[in-house]
Amino acid sequence: MHTLETLVSFAKKRGFVFLSSEIYGGFGGVYDYGPLGVELLRNLKQDWWNTMVRMRSDIVGLDAGIVMHPKVWKASGHTDGFSDPVTVCGKTGKRFRADHLLEDIGVSADERMTLEEFREVFEKHRSNLKPEGCDPNDLEEPEFQNLLVTSNIGAADNFEDVYLRGETCQGIYVNFKQVLDTMHLKLPFGIAQIGKAFRNEISPRQFLFRTREFEQMEMQYFVREGESGKFFEEFRRIRLESLQNLGLQKEHLRITPHERLVFYARAAEDIEHKYPFGWKELEGIHDRGDYDLMQHTKHTGEKLVYFDQDTDKHIVPHVVETSIGIGRLFLAVLHDAYAVEELPDGSERVVLRLRPSLAPITVAVLPLMKKDGLPEKAREIYTMLAPHFSVHYDETGAIGKRYRRTDEIGTPFAVTVDYDTLKDDSVTVRQRDSMKQNRVAISALTDTIKKEIRG
Ligand code: ATP
Repeated sequence: MHTLETLVSFAKKRGFVFLSSEIYGGFGGVYDYGPLGVELLRNLKQDWWNTMVRMRSDIVGLDAGIVMHPKVWKASGHTDGFSDPVTVCGKTGKRFRADHLLEDIGVSADERMTLEEFREVFEKHRSNLKPEGCDPNDLEEPEFQNLLVTSNIGAADNFEDVYLRGETCQGIYVNFKQVLDTMHLKLPFGIAQIGKAFRNEISPRQFLFRTREFEQMEMQYFVREGESGKFFEEFRRIRLESLQNLGLQKEHLRITPHERLVFYARAAEDIEHKYPFGWKELEGIHDRGDYDLMQHTKHTGEKLVYFDQDTDKHIVPHVVETSIGIGRLFLAVLHDAYAVEELPDGSERVVLRLRPSLAPITVAVLPLMKKDGLPEKAREIYTMLAPHFSVHYDETGAIGKRYRRTDEIGTPFAVTVDYDTLKDDSVTVRQRDSMKQNRVAISALTDTIKKEIRG
């Protein structure tokens, strides 16, 4: 296990993740993905889109707006119930998630508690709480803080209380009828979406794990009532398998069922990852019943139903949801790929063992020397490979140092152009993990690398 600090400083130093508006002192709970981070991020999204949409004939995609009619959030229950309990240190002004303070001492608070009930539990355990840098007796009485982020967009049209979406799936529910009517789908079918979500998290912490602006990859699978259990099991399996295919270690993944369910849920489980700060939710699998479609029908009068030809009846489908935050996935992938290795000569190397399909740069092209026509030949090879892979050209410094740099950012293949290349049109291909080197003809290079990636 690596510490979170190691990963944060690595991510910054190597251009993966920067603090938002750093030159202004930063903005809590928002991060910017740098030149290498954005490539890894895109590859993670592409992998999800391929698995969940492109390779399935029963799931279609959607890209709904971040801003929606404010009544959507009333119907979904977010304006009334989407809140976390917060307590403030009377001496320092520091804010804490009151339920997290309880969790830290092994007391779990029920999400459905009223404020009075929650305060009672809080008082009962107050003296044992361990708020960092604050005496528990100085903590003020907890209050519920709504997590929806408000915006003034649409003020000219007299819209008040407009929100940035707190989750992407509401965009799927409100487009259910449009998608169904235009795509002529048959149950069971899914609608998938990748997009930003915003939450006014009280104490964003743990780097990319809990941020105020983040991206979700969500899929809502619409099924007949009574069939949701079967699909719940199936998507739990599919998602676990996908996470392992991304390189997450099996022993760093586990399933934890929710102790208590929100009133409309039939089942809910978290796929947890073992982060440097412990086991935490990476992805949620939820059986939401017909709650969401029914709520939007209630608030709009629009019938969100499916005509079942088998029974000649209109039915309201039930929903099995898979929901993952990309920031949490990015952090988990980085954590499990990062390794510090001792080499036979006693030196150390940092190596990011990313799956080749995820690596920000797939191939590094390196002329052995910066002279004698080697850079020109290497540039030719760069141009040949660039339409097929993400390629980086690097001619500065000793070759050993350049190999170390490519290892550290997870580049799986380094192509070295040397003096023999000028004679026999072949290059050395070095593998990141094994550090083995093979001679490959330039004419076979593209196919060889493609094969290696698939393998
Ligand atoms: P938590 O209990 O950790 O706050 P949650 O139960 O509120 O999470 P959901 O509402 O189920 O999370 O959201 C679905 C997914 O979105 C989560 O599994 C997580 O991957 C991601 N997610 C939720 N909140 C955040 C956040 N503040 N920052 C980054 N990702 C998030």
